[in-house]
Amino acid sequence: MSITENIKIFKDILPQGVELVAVSKFHPVSYILEAYNAGQRLFGESRVQEFLEKQKELPTDIQWHFIGHLQTNKVKSIIGKTALIESVDSEKLINIIDSESQKTGVVTNVLMQVHVAAEETKFGFYPQELLDYFYMGKHKNLKATHIAGIMGMATNTDDTAKIASDFKSISDIFHKLRNDCNLQLIGFDKLSMGMSGDWEIALKYGANIIRVGSAIFGTRQ
Ligand SMILES: *Cc1c(COP(=O)(O)O)cnc(C)c1O
Repeated sequence: MSITENIKIFKDILPQGVELVAVSKFHPVSYILEAYNAGQRLFGESRVQEFLEKQKELPTDIQWHFIGHLQTNKVKSIIGKTALIESVDSEKLINIIDSESQKTGVVTNVLMQVHVAAEETKFGFYPQELLDYFYMGKHKNLKATHIAGIMGMATNTDDTAKIASDFKSISDIFHKLRNDCNLQLIGFDKLSMGMSGDWEIALKYGANIIRVGSAIFGTRQ
């Protein structure tokens, strides 16, 4: 199956209101252009240097989601260049995003990454840590950062029951925050979950952004 065919298939099967991020990390610019020519405009990258190099070479109407762990010393270089930073995994990081956004005179859209998977290696706020962040009202101090929702990953396993329970946990946190009027969250409506192997399960739990790499572009080098 070609990249063009894969993009067409996803466009056909995804329900209205679900955004497809084509995760192009480790894949060449030529692959991104093929997806672009098939109509795809939303791409995801996970490394700062790679993202910046690709962005320079590609059409300016591409929307870029940054989806990888972002080191605080690299924030400055991507501010103003992303449609959404999906992977805010610490309070320190969001505060630096906020101060750099103020300096640049832009508002940066972000998602808070929550860590529910069994792996130690995944980044993100633990659920209680994320709830505390909001219930302590810390988001109200942000001046140039818009928190648009939550991103999360399920445990990397074949056990679909475990994957489903991870997505349910992420979805529950999202709805708890979203439905709490006291938090005064505005435009908090994005729930990013699901990758090549588990996006169908994620949709059942209300994902409205899925991040798909290998099912579009093939295996990464
Ligand atoms: C690489 C990556 C993806 C895409 O993974 P695939 O299994 O290739 O679809 C999605 N989300 C994040 C955060 C990633 O790092």
